[in-house]
Amino acid sequence: MSPRESQKKATVCEVGPRDGLQMAKGIMPTEVKSRWIAAIAAAGVPEIEVGSFVPAKLVPQMADTDAIVRHAVTIPGLTVVALAPNLRGAQNAHAAGTHRVSIPVSVSEGHSRANLNRSPSEQVAEVARIVAWVRSQPRKMEVEAACSTAFGCSIDGVVPVRNVVTIAAGLAEAGVDEIALADTVGYAHPSQIHEVVRAVRAAVGEKLQGLHLHDTMGLGLANALAGLEEGIRNFDAALAGLGGCPFAPGASGNIVTEDLVFMLESMGFATGIDLPALIAARDLLREGLPDEPLHGQVPKAGIPKTFRAAA
Ligand code: ZN
Repeated sequence: MSPRESQKKATVCEVGPRDGLQMAKGIMPTEVKSRWIAAIAAAGVPEIEVGSFVPAKLVPQMADTDAIVRHAVTIPGLTVVALAPNLRGAQNAHAAGTHRVSIPVSVSEGHSRANLNRSPSEQVAEVARIVAWVRSQPRKMEVEAACSTAFGCSIDGVVPVRNVVTIAAGLAEAGVDEIALADTVGYAHPSQIHEVVRAVRAAVGEKLQGLHLHDTMGLGLANALAGLEEGIRNFDAALAGLGGCPFAPGASGNIVTEDLVFMLESMGFATGIDLPALIAARDLLREGLPDEPLHGQVPKAGIPKTFRAAA
């Protein structure tokens, strides 16, 4: 490996405690969830989306998010991310000490109405209100907007690229720190990743930071590779491939963190994550949600003798 290659880096954000657990049939006890998050952080994962500030009656798995955030921010070096769909949620996230709030903005009308009860442009306006409020606070909190259904929608079907560009441009104008593109239902293919990333970057430049991918069609890692080739270096993933979207029928889990880290490290992209320790964190997931199926090829096959972590 050349010296230049050895300096390659990628950032993995673990979203299992949010995206994964919200679809789980059971509810992970708060105490186990806290230990699970601590184990993921101890494995070197730099960012964890630990929950969402939504009404507990809508998503009972997220009822303990305030307590979970307050615990997670005590873990040294960890960037604590939480989802909030509106200003009130963002205010609660800020009060709990969240480092970065992630606001979902559906590109497709149908998903936006079902998930947020607002049109996409109304949600962009809500993001502008959130940014204005956050900037008025003495304590800083990063604001990320995630363009949901950017690659297709289970309700509306095809999502035109120009619509993704319009929403992303609106979010950049609203003043968010970062924009991510989310394949919420997992319909994307690699050529589409190339096309949409290029189009959005042409509109918003380096504000486009991340990809949030699901493995519904088995193309999750192929899509991550396409993103990597386009210069994307921030990826969401869920331990054991937990995840989905309650308002997107047919959606299965996020890309598997263990498999993503294996791919990135093998290709020379340093993640700072210790793969055996990451795989060991599955034990706590099993303890907290014994009935949940665990996915992932690398954990099943075992780390091969050929594996070398990036320098
Ligand atoms: Zn998702």
